[in-house]
Amino acid sequence: MLWRAPLSLVHSAMPYEPNQTNDPSLKSWVESANDASSHFPIQNLPLCAFLHPDEEAVVLGARIGDKLVDMGLLAEAGILTDDHDGHAHHHEHSIFDDVALNHVLGHGPGLMAGMRKQLQEFLVDGPAGGQQARRLRQSALLDVAKCELLPPVAVMNYTDFYASIHHATTVGSMFRPDNPLLPNYKHVPIGYHGRASSIVESGTPIVRPRGQQSPPEGEPGAGPSFGPCKMLDYELEVGAFVGVGNELGKPISIREAHEHLAGLCLVNDWSARDIQKWEYQPLGPFLAKNFATTISPYVVTMDALAPFRCKAFSRGAGDPQPLAYLMDQRDQELGGFDITLEVWLSSAKMREQGAAAMRISRSNAFKDMYWTLAQMLAHHTSNGCNMQAGDLFASGTISGSEPGTRGCLLESTWQGWGPDGKAMPRKPITLPSGETRTFLADGDEVTIRGWCEREGYRTIGFGECVGRIEGAE
Ligand code: MN
Repeated sequence: MLWRAPLSLVHSAMPYEPNQTNDPSLKSWVESANDASSHFPIQNLPLCAFLHPDEEAVVLGARIGDKLVDMGLLAEAGILTDDHDGHAHHHEHSIFDDVALNHVLGHGPGLMAGMRKQLQEFLVDGPAGGQQARRLRQSALLDVAKCELLPPVAVMNYTDFYASIHHATTVGSMFRPDNPLLPNYKHVPIGYHGRASSIVESGTPIVRPRGQQSPPEGEPGAGPSFGPCKMLDYELEVGAFVGVGNELGKPISIREAHEHLAGLCLVNDWSARDIQKWEYQPLGPFLAKNFATTISPYVVTMDALAPFRCKAFSRGAGDPQPLAYLMDQRDQELGGFDITLEVWLSSAKMREQGAAAMRISRSNAFKDMYWTLAQMLAHHTSNGCNMQAGDLFASGTISGSEPGTRGCLLESTWQGWGPDGKAMPRKPITLPSGETRTFLADGDEVTIRGWCEREGYRTIGFGECVGRIEGAE
């Protein structure tokens, strides 16, 4: 059983700012981590769960260079401990022997920071010391290529927000050309409860969903139909994992919200647009969204992300101020994250021809989300809703305002409304194989990549979030 009552949060100084663990001069004895092109230097150390190739057991780990560190083994050797918050914990077994990161994240920022320091002390460049230490360096590190990465967290609850104003405006205009943004948008972080059971790890095949679709337009008397989705789409999103949760009835304040965030991942919120269009009123997303959500394999910790924080999105002069429960000066100053995000597409034909995947979007639009992660979390709990360690909430589709920065096909192939009051035909993407796409075809593979770079710091990455479409059964 993974769930345990949330531990109280220990208020250590929580990282808005970088510290010595982000020092770009740190190097590791794991040579591949020192390569400037690696997204996994010693300054990153994202957390994961993987199948140990020799022991055939699930192990918690951290990525460095092209290796995974076996954290269970390091705990056994006394190198990783869980007493960083000043409390001695007496568990039946170490939290590092779990099969998912929920308890590690749920111990809070004190443990996360202490664990990061201990991992760095083990991995930092320098002589191993004795023979025992040399052996541990060998046995605790595994080639990532030989390990199967698993979902890092057992997600019990999943929420999806709608925080990109560019996305909300473009999509809104498809349904309401005269009134794209509903009056609540600039006051309330809009979201819905998604489904945790269909969250899958990167690489899991995505079966094209079947569903009910609206009657064809211009055919009075025709009824709805049921069949394979014809407008299958991806959604580029960033996900946040909750660390320490809150008790039912006790909201997390905006000032404390960032301390309840343990780390980020990439999310592809697969969407069936034809099913969505027919089913979404009046209660919102349902079967168009819950057939699969892919997450990247690593939890990139808030400590690793500290150098890449930035100002929250600057609202327009005419925009309303958020209500007080959503407003915190520090969050406005450092509540954004500058992450470069890319989406790549390859078709079955392209792979047959040996063609490389094609990049179909790139942006840093996550820093321009209308709401910060802290605002989303504060809002989510403002009614007393309880979050649990390992709960996931995603940002909503991340889109910029420019062509080439859109986070889904629904937007990137949209050409607006014609002078005759009818939607213009969608503009397809042309692939290197000569094929065209307005939505995803069977065999298409979507890869999301993300990384953070900033002058004076080592670049850190999220790894990949990959899914390939299989035909409906
Ligand atoms: Mn979404």
